[in-house]
Amino acid sequence: MGVSSAHFSEDELRCSGSVCDDCLRGQQPKNECQQALVDLLEQFRSQCAMYAGADVQTIVHSAYRCPEKNKATTNAAKNSVHQQGLAADVHVKVLGPHGISLLSPAEMEKIAMRCERVTGFGRDDHAKYVHLDARTTNTHAALAKWCYEPKGSSCEYYPPKEEA
Ligand SMILES: [Zn+2]
Ligand SMILES: [Zn+2]
Repeated sequence: MGVSSAHFSEDELRCSGSVCDDCLRGQQPKNECQQALVDLLEQFRSQCAMYAGADVQTIVHSAYRCPEKNKATTNAAKNSVHQQGLAADVHVKVLGPHGISLLSPAEMEKIAMRCERVTGFGRDDHAKYVHLDARTTNTHAALAKWCYEPKGSSCEYYPPKEEA
C-alpha cells in the first residue's frame, strides 16, 4: 500500500514495472513512495502554479523503483533514492489561457530551490525533466545537486552525473 495525495495518484507513483518480480508473477508493481515525497511533490506543484500564474499538471515519469527496476534503469545509481520511494522524475505542463506549454529545466530548478522539502535535485536538459528527492542525508540548505549533461554544457555545476 503506497501513499497518494490530492494531485498524485497511487498509480502514477508506483514502479513502472515490466521487470519487477511482482509483475512477472502477474501482480501490480508496488508503490512504496513515502509521505515525504508526496509532500515534496505537492509543494513543488503549487510553487510551479504560483510561478506560472496558471494551473499546472505535473507529469511523473518515475517515482518508486523496485530493486529489479532500478538495476534495469540506464544510468541509475546503485543506491538510488527512487528505491526508498523518496524521488521522482517529473516535467510540468502549464495550462495557460493561450494553450499548453512546458516549464524548462532551468525554470523547474529555480522553483525547486524555493521548496524547502527538496534535498536532492538533478536536471536533464536534453530529456527536459528534473529529478526531485527528499533524501534524508541532505538538507535543503545543503542539497545534493547535479545535471545529466555530459560536460555540463548548460549547467554551471557538475557531477555527481549518476542518476540518483
Ligand atoms: Zn518494480
Ligand atoms: Zn530520478
